[in-house]
Amino acid sequence: MTSNHLVIAVDGPSGSGKSSVSRAVADRLGVGYLDTGAMYRAVTWWCLEEGVELEDRDAVAAAARDIPLEMGTDPTHASVLVRGLEIEDAIRTTRVSEVVSKVATNTKVRPILQEQQRELMDRIATQTGGVVAEGRDITTVVAPHADVRVLLTASVEARLRRRSKELHGEAHDEAVEATRDQIVRRDADDSTVSQFTQAADGVHLVDTSDLDFEQSVEAVLTVVRKEAAHKVDA
Ligand code: C5P
Repeated sequence: MTSNHLVIAVDGPSGSGKSSVSRAVADRLGVGYLDTGAMYRAVTWWCLEEGVELEDRDAVAAAARDIPLEMGTDPTHASVLVRGLEIEDAIRTTRVSEVVSKVATNTKVRPILQEQQRELMDRIATQTGGVVAEGRDITTVVAPHADVRVLLTASVEARLRRRSKELHGEAHDEAVEATRDQIVRRDADDSTVSQFTQAADGVHLVDTSDLDFEQSVEAVLTVVRKEAAHKVDA
């Protein structure tokens, strides 16, 4: 990247801490934030609302092109609007989580959302001086030339524990098992179209298995300060 804007790409599997860590990093740096997973979720929600068959690949691609979607970019306030309606909570429900992989693995949808994501990243960076974008293919496909590229990982056990706490408020054995499908099966489905378990060339691997939230944020900021020292004063 040659502009003065600070562009940070973060990828990782479910439960790696990607979203919360990316938001905190954007907040610390005073730049905007883009949750690209929320875009796949929003298209899924829109198809369910509009009665578009998720198996109909062309119809879902058309929905991805036409959806009147407005992504919130404030890292301290998650917001996803469709035609003015706030759907941030609706896109996190099991109804959407269970089927979002059908949209994310639709290869006719991906280039459409990837292009929208590039445009959004440019706009956010221009408006706020930078952007942290997170997802599964940001370091490799959407923004391979980002100033800083990070792959956040964590062991399957650590990821299950975290997601289970998020979803069920606890991490006892039963809750962990109930979460396994959401993490392991979805990542297996999704990894057929994006490579997010190994760091590509030039991508920094940050393993958060043994880090708490604050340490994870600091680990990413350390990479940012090293890679983009001239653009950071945090
Ligand atoms: O991260 P989150 O769970 O919200 O992502 C929702 C879905 O979109 C997941 O199935 C994920 O693999 C997929 N996704 C993707 N590419 C991205 C971001 C998310 O395929 N850049």
